[in-house]
Amino acid sequence: MSNDALDALFSENLHIHTNLSRCGGRDSTLTAVVRQAEKLGLRRIAVTDHIHPYETPKLFHNLPLLRRELAALDTDVEVLLGAELSAYGVHKYTLQYANAAPKLDFYMYAHNHYHMRGWEQPEDQSAEGYKRHCLQVLKTVIRSGKADALAHPFADKYIVREFEDVLPFTKGCITDLFTDNEIGDLMELGKNRGVMWELNTTLFADYAGFLRRYYRTGLEVGARFFVGSDAHRPEAMDLTEAKKYFKENIFFQMRSERNADG
Ligand SMILES: [Zn+2]
Ligand SMILES: [Zn+2]
Repeated sequence: MSNDALDALFSENLHIHTNLSRCGGRDSTLTAVVRQAEKLGLRRIAVTDHIHPYETPKLFHNLPLLRRELAALDTDVEVLLGAELSAYGVHKYTLQYANAAPKLDFYMYAHNHYHMRGWEQPEDQSAEGYKRHCLQVLKTVIRSGKADALAHPFADKYIVREFEDVLPFTKGCITDLFTDNEIGDLMELGKNRGVMWELNTTLFADYAGFLRRYYRTGLEVGARFFVGSDAHRPEAMDLTEAKKYFKENIFFQMRSERNADG
């Protein structure tokens, strides 16, 4: 990957929350997010507020307002009004049965918010059981044709954080079970459906080993990646540190691995 490709990847941030997410900072208005993107020199951003299972999303009602707010901003930044929707089980998707669902610019699905109320849990609650469930949900959401992108795919941090007291889980114990072949097969499937795969910067430090495999497998398959900061406040949209980390620990690491192989 050339530096140009690296620059291109980090000129976008397609995972940003505003104050329409419960977890979003109160001052994280769409306007504040867009102004911050201008300041950071981002070419394209996506605001992706949560649409959780069994909740009426604030976003749903606010979309026309957001469109008006955006139109008034007069910005050079390309702004996608999207959402982080929930693939909360096998064939279970938020907005699945909603009539007159708002038309979004960017449908990003999370498959692994297992800590959320209403999320389907596997019958077999072992690390292997969670892994198999994740694979099934990923496969079905990709096949559904609903997803433009997948948020933090394969990351087990939500499962581990929620269940570490009752199940023998440590960070990475599920993520590391996904084989290169399983990742590659899903990416192959995603390629035919136009699905993009997130490089979620909040995972870089904890999941660097996995991300090297994930990234290398994706490049081999020809998968499309995008960078997302999962920012809940405008300050957290800055990708400078993440880009440096990626370059030093994932991008260059890959090169030296390739050199070692060759
Ligand atoms: Zn998420
Ligand atoms: Zn998020």
